[in-house]
Amino acid sequence: MKIRDNLINFLSKIPENVQLVAVSKTKPVEAVKEAYDAGQLVFGENKVQDLVEKVPKLPADIQWHFIGHMQTNKVKFIAPFVSLIHAVDSMKLLKEINKQATKNNRTINCLLQFHIAEESTKFGLSIQEATDILNSSEFMDMKNVHISGVMGMATYTNNTEQIRQEFAQLKTHFNTLKTNYFSSDDHFREISMGMSGDYKIAIEEGSTMIRIGTSIFGSRY
Ligand SMILES: *Cc1c(COP(=O)(O)O)cnc(C)c1O
Repeated sequence: MKIRDNLINFLSKIPENVQLVAVSKTKPVEAVKEAYDAGQLVFGENKVQDLVEKVPKLPADIQWHFIGHMQTNKVKFIAPFVSLIHAVDSMKLLKEINKQATKNNRTINCLLQFHIAEESTKFGLSIQEATDILNSSEFMDMKNVHISGVMGMATYTNNTEQIRQEFAQLKTHFNTLKTNYFSSDDHFREISMGMSGDYKIAIEEGSTMIRIGTSIFGSRY
């Protein structure tokens, strides 16, 4: 019952317009099922192998988000079912997603991941790299991907002012792209930012989608 309680408690704390992605990485299917039975339909995983193993064992109406760093050669394994890919950080990857989406006769929703943290280990685009992608004729020819918004991860730090500034920067990138490329596209509306440790700041800075693992499923070992 603990996961159910955590989930209900968590949902009561966040505004209705913020979508909760329950990050079930490293957790067993039983844990996912418990959250599902409590009403959660959107789950996030960060490893392709784990995701493809879980999917057939769980209800078909779950919406699976891929939140991790995506390797191009693995897109084909999740293309048939994935609901949203959070961390698109290169043209090469976007091209492959479009190719595999086309093969599966569907459109795949994607977020552009921005590098907002000070750590160099975190992946993501600069605003220049993102606009290069969006300006390219290759991108304009892609019929089977939909850019639904942006995603980012703040620095792992106790400095809340720094975290706030990084989230604010992501929001600024979102606004820039919205104005210049997606002003008439209602699907471009998501800002995926905020995890268990920093979701409150993320929501204050305009997050529409938070990715929460530990606060729902407990710590990972
Ligand atoms: C693991 C993970 C999360 C969830 O982190 P918690 O601190 O457990 O809430 C969110 N986003 C990404 C990209 C992750 O890899």
